[in-house]
Amino acid sequence: MTATRVLVLNSGSSSVKYQLVDMADGSRPAAGLVERIGERTSRLVHRPPAGGPERTSDAPVADHEAALKAAAAELAADGLGLGAPELAAVGHRVVHGGLRFTEPVLIDDEVLAEIERLVPVAPLHNPANLRGIRTAQALSPRLPQVAVFDTAFHTTMPEHAARYAIDTATADAHRVRRYGFHGTSHAYVSRRTAELLGRPPSEVNVIVLHLGNGASASAVRGGVCVETSMGLTPLEGLVMGTRSGDVDPAVVFHLSRVAGMSVDEIDTLLNKRSGLLGLCGDNDMREVRRRVDAGDADARLAFDVYVHRLKKYLGAYCAVLGRVDAVAFTAGVGENSAPVRAAAVGGLEGLGLAVDPERNEPPGGEPRLISPPGARVAVAVVPTDEELEIARQTYALVSEENPG
Ligand code: AMP
Repeated sequence: MTATRVLVLNSGSSSVKYQLVDMADGSRPAAGLVERIGERTSRLVHRPPAGGPERTSDAPVADHEAALKAAAAELAADGLGLGAPELAAVGHRVVHGGLRFTEPVLIDDEVLAEIERLVPVAPLHNPANLRGIRTAQALSPRLPQVAVFDTAFHTTMPEHAARYAIDTATADAHRVRRYGFHGTSHAYVSRRTAELLGRPPSEVNVIVLHLGNGASASAVRGGVCVETSMGLTPLEGLVMGTRSGDVDPAVVFHLSRVAGMSVDEIDTLLNKRSGLLGLCGDNDMREVRRRVDAGDADARLAFDVYVHRLKKYLGAYCAVLGRVDAVAFTAGVGENSAPVRAAAVGGLEGLGLAVDPERNEPPGGEPRLISPPGARVAVAVVPTDEELEIARQTYALVSEENPG
């Protein structure tokens, strides 16, 4: 196959991110982002090939169709349009694949219908993903379009980890179970961590801590996910930038009965006004740390709640796995915040976990160990690359379908 490039599309509720990945060498000939779709202050930023200057446009972008057309025009201006012979496929990030999609799939009408059927369990994400797919299909009808699902990596979770202990008939009727998210990142990072240790993924047990704006942990045994912290939706689990993570479900009844809040108001509270933001007024860990260092008590409490939850999950996943070979920190906070890493692992020497301050402090873009030499459990910083993973899975699928 001579076409070696994949256009990766991440079509969110108000933004579209795109990246062209060349699978021959892993290079990124172009990338870009359209933000604030549907608002008057839309913005397109396009990064052209070979380090050329970024191009920015502030023209209003009405909808996803207009956003993708604008992105396609930018790519075409660089000779990288959707008709370029080097382009093998478009790879779409799709947030919710339910139980059905355990692997990437070539998109056809039936796949589209199933993604649509999953809208009730992913009301913000799947509709935006669908808009991106339909527009890309219209713009390039002959190009294979592949869906790569955020939930797929977690479909290997055993039933006892995936089920909530609630009435089975109700759960089954409404597809209430734990699905997990960020799966593309957990898959990529767990594999890269095994590579860093110089061992095959099938021999390594890894705890992945994906700490970005959203945050989730996973326990990966021999390359297979056996537990993850997000559930029916990306609200469960760790403390996040604006999401609460775990709360007693009765908090919802309490706020409804005692505070008179509606379901939508509580939804907004837990998803958008909680987490670090709810505790101290800032959702960006950089700002939280700056305030901690300046002696701010609210920021200190927010940091401590964040780290305490992380530590509880680390301990729990050590118990789930039995034997842990590595803990890998990734995403915006995990890759960049040495204080979060040091605090999360601090005091866990009894579990074989420790961070070497000299290895932890310096920033770096490559996967690296931060545990002391000879430590029983490797602690690592492994930058995630969801676009590369989507491109890799997309390319593997179209190469299989169309060998030679
Ligand atoms: P992501 O969702 O992976 O893009 O992560 C975004 C988040 O990473 C931001 O909201 C910040 O809280 C965090 N972040 C980025 N850079 C740093 C840094 N240098 N130190 C601490 N947190 C950071």
